[in-house]
Amino acid sequence: MTKDQTVLRADQVSKQFGSQPVLSNINLELRAGELLAILGESGSGKSTLLRIFARFLDADQGKIIFNGEELKSVRGELIPGHESIRLIHQEFELFPNQTVEENIAYSLRFYDAAYRKDSVEELLEVAGLGYVRNQKAKLLSGGEKQRTAIAKALAEQPEVLLLDEPFAHLDNQNRRVLGHAIEKMRNEQKTSCIFVTHESSDALAWSDRIAVLRNGEIIQVGTPEEVYNKPANSYVAELTGGINWLGNAEKRFFIRPEKIKPTKYAEKSKWKGKVEAIRFHGNYWEIRCTNGAETLSFYRNKVNVEVGQEVFLTYAAKDLGRI
Ligand code: ADP
Ligand code: MG
Repeated sequence: MTKDQTVLRADQVSKQFGSQPVLSNINLELRAGELLAILGESGSGKSTLLRIFARFLDADQGKIIFNGEELKSVRGELIPGHESIRLIHQEFELFPNQTVEENIAYSLRFYDAAYRKDSVEELLEVAGLGYVRNQKAKLLSGGEKQRTAIAKALAEQPEVLLLDEPFAHLDNQNRRVLGHAIEKMRNEQKTSCIFVTHESSDALAWSDRIAVLRNGEIIQVGTPEEVYNKPANSYVAELTGGINWLGNAEKRFFIRPEKIKPTKYAEKSKWKGKVEAIRFHGNYWEIRCTNGAETLSFYRNKVNVEVGQEVFLTYAAKDLGRI
C-alpha cells in the first residue's frame, strides 16, 4: 500500500440521538499507516464517530468506506464490529486475573506455539511491557492496562486500530510511554490508527494529522503544524495553545506567545506596555503585559523584568495570524 492510500473513510456521515444532532455531515479519511487524532471537547461527538467507524453503531446518513467498499448496516448483525477494525474503549477489555503475557497470548490462541511465543515477545516489546509480563492485569497501573489492551488488540493484526481517549487519566510520564508505544506500533506493525483526545498537546505530539471536532462538525483537518500555525478560526487557535489577540473588532490578529520578543529599543518595538504578572511553568516563564487596551503574554527561559516595569515588545509581521 502506498502511504496516502485511504483505508477508512466517512462520507457525509450524520447522526442524531432523539432530536439531538450529534454528528453533522462528517467527511474524514484515515490513510494507510497514519496516526490520525480526533481532537474535541467532551460531548463533541468523538466516541460516537469512533463507534460508527468501528461498526458498532449505524449513521443516520452517509457511508463508511473500508478499503474502497461500503460497510453494511450494523442492524441485523449478530455480532457488531468488524474483524479488521478494532476499537479499544475507555474501559479496558482485559482478563483481570490473567497476566499481561496471558492476556496477549489469548488473542493468539488459534496460532501454533512457536508463532504465538514470537508474537507475544514482539508485542511486549512494542508496548514496553516486558517488565510486567508476569503481573496480573488487575494489578497494573492505568497506563500499563491501556498498553496491554493495545497489545492484545494488535495480536489480532487489525488493519485499523481505534483508540478512545487512550491518554486520559495518565500522568505525563505514562503519556510519553504510551505515545512511544503507539508510534512504534505504527512504524513496526504498520497499523493505521485513529485516536480520540480532548487534550491538544496529545494530538499535537503524537499524530500525523489532526481533525478538530466541535459540536459534531469537523472544523479543520491538517498536520499538527498547520492546525497550530494556521488555525481555521479563533476556536481552533485557542484550543491548540496560548494565544494573544491584537487589534480591534474590525481588524483582529492573533500571535502565539513564543513569537513575541522583548527589545531594549523603543524605536524597534511594535508594542509598549507594562508587566502585569510573571508566572513560572517549569521549562519557561510566562510574562503577561498590558497596555490598557491589549494584553500580551510572551515566554522566556530567564526573567529579567519585574511586575510594573515598562517593556518594549516586537514580533515579525509573518507571525501574525488573521482570522
Ligand atoms: P465525546 O466522546 O466527544 O465526549 P460522545 O460521542 O460520547 O462525545 O457524545 C456526543 C453527544 O451525544 C453527547 O451530548 C452525548 O450525551 C450524546 N450521546 C452519546 N451517546 C448517546 C446515546 N447512546 N444516546 C443518547 N445520547 C447519546
Ligand atoms: Mg468520548
